[in-house]
Amino acid sequence: MAAAQFPALELPEIAFLGRSNVGKSSLLNTLAGEKTAKVSSTPGRTRAINFFALLDPSQRRKLVFADLPGYGYAKISKSVSEGWPAFIEPYLAIRSTLKLCVCLVDSNVPPQESDRQLIDWLRAAGRDLAVVATKIDRLSGNERTRNLLALKKGLELEDVLPVSAKTGYGLKELWARIEGASVAQG
Ligand code: GDP
Repeated sequence: MAAAQFPALELPEIAFLGRSNVGKSSLLNTLAGEKTAKVSSTPGRTRAINFFALLDPSQRRKLVFADLPGYGYAKISKSVSEGWPAFIEPYLAIRSTLKLCVCLVDSNVPPQESDRQLIDWLRAAGRDLAVVATKIDRLSGNERTRNLLALKKGLELEDVLPVSAKTGYGLKELWARIEGASVAQG
């Protein structure tokens, strides 16, 4: 798929990225609920970018969520670009309606090189990004603090947003970040 073939949407777009099994589908389902409408997808199932049009929780603003294929599956591909379809990088680099990249990392797993690479790449590309630590419900209070700190250090982040698709923890904060980015200029 060439970049020119991405759907020409006028709406603010939010991309969701993460290693396979990070909990991306679960989070998207929880955020988007029943209101999603699948507007387009590239061919193939797991390796496609799926675009969803939806309304924000206030029901006022229309947004598009772009669900990107998971990367770094198993031990085969350690880097992001390895095993990633060629259209992903151009999408992330030139998509003009893309307002925010939500990078998912597993709060139960130490910082990963592939996540680091993606985050560094997005920073170099000048993208606004929010790093979200998934499955936070699996951790006790002490483990949360420790793991979130490790992620911040390992990925060189000022902030990481803990969430749980299972309990709904952190979703309000994530929505606020998404809405803030959606109205941002540029
Ligand atoms: P994806 O490959 O990134 O789309 O990941 P999935 O959404 O399919 O989730 C991978 C696994 O993690 C599944 O077994 C989910 O049930 C589990 N999972 C996802 N989100 C959460 C969460 O917030 N809490 C817990 N405890 N498990 C989760």
